[in-house]
Amino acid sequence: MREYTTRLLPGDSLGIREAAALLRAGELVGIPTETVYGLAANALDGGAVGRIFTAKGRPQDNPLIVHIADWEALPPLVAEVPPLAKKLADAYWPGPLTMIFRKSALIPDEVSAGLSTVAVRMPSHPVARAVIRQAGVPLAAPSANLSGSPSPTLASHVMADMTGRIPAVLDGGECAVGVESTVVDVTKETPCLLRPGGVTPAMLAAVAGGVSINPAVTSRLPEGAVAASPGMKYKHYAPKAHVVLVRGTPEDYAAFVNARRDEPVTAMCFDGEEGALRVPYISYGRRDDPAGQARRVFDVLRRLDEIGAKTVYCACPSEEGVGLAVYNRLLRAAGFEVIDLDR
Ligand code: AMP
Ligand code: MG
Repeated sequence: MREYTTRLLPGDSLGIREAAALLRAGELVGIPTETVYGLAANALDGGAVGRIFTAKGRPQDNPLIVHIADWEALPPLVAEVPPLAKKLADAYWPGPLTMIFRKSALIPDEVSAGLSTVAVRMPSHPVARAVIRQAGVPLAAPSANLSGSPSPTLASHVMADMTGRIPAVLDGGECAVGVESTVVDVTKETPCLLRPGGVTPAMLAAVAGGVSINPAVTSRLPEGAVAASPGMKYKHYAPKAHVVLVRGTPEDYAAFVNARRDEPVTAMCFDGEEGALRVPYISYGRRDDPAGQARRVFDVLRRLDEIGAKTVYCACPSEEGVGLAVYNRLLRAAGFEVIDLDR
């Protein structure tokens, strides 16, 4: 892998112009979106896309999302645009919604990882939209973290993971959503949720009349099963610490962690509930504010590693609304280890 001096570009017109020029030249650039930072390459250039996998250390069988800025960019990339996709796009594009289509011949195998489908999203972040338009090509972009580490929600997270591996990171501030996009398969009558995100199941059902949820969203895939969304089979977002989710009332959670205060434990708790804890803690949002939790969850997972946390008992979020996305990511960070104090 080539070594780069990685530059942090400002998210202004000069920075955007420079990022677009690098992308057109087949280079990789870390770019902001409203979900998380993406590691972008020209989606139509198989060689450039291939370098994303090297830079991230990403398994070759995990396909990438193609980012577009305008509706007109979609039809050339896909075999057909189902009416369901048009309805969902009218409601939620630009925004944190990725749809799975049957792909066209324009999509290199490196993007779709050998599948016959392609994932496409139209981000709403103004800097992302400007870079895509100036590059003049769709951009393939997975999250801009090293494979396995928490997704980046700040330019500094991307710099921490990608310095030396890519020429530039474009700074667009803190990501407003904070978890990766909702992924939904629109190749069937009823949309099927493959990964929860900022667009909730209720929002999908409101437009589509119904939604099915892939079992891998809330449970571990059985050994040997084929993942509908290959990314869901990996132990993602994993900090170095041993993370365990703890489901229960604020009182039961406090009693549980306090009983372990002679061990090297850190509590990952809700805002406003720290007072009852007798162990070190980092809070990640209010219990009743899933959108706030989504914005902070990945940064907190990174900070746990920075402070050298050994065992992290994380207060389990609600699975309602955007909470489902937070729960899904934490479940993977915890390797599906959940202690249920309510039982
Ligand atoms: P990331 O870009 O890191 O957010 O990962 C992209 C996610 O989208 C992964 O979970 C992939 O498995 C999923 N994905 C991308 N393309 C497809 C596809 N054609 N079919 C199903 N899932 C996909
Ligand atoms: Mg990722």
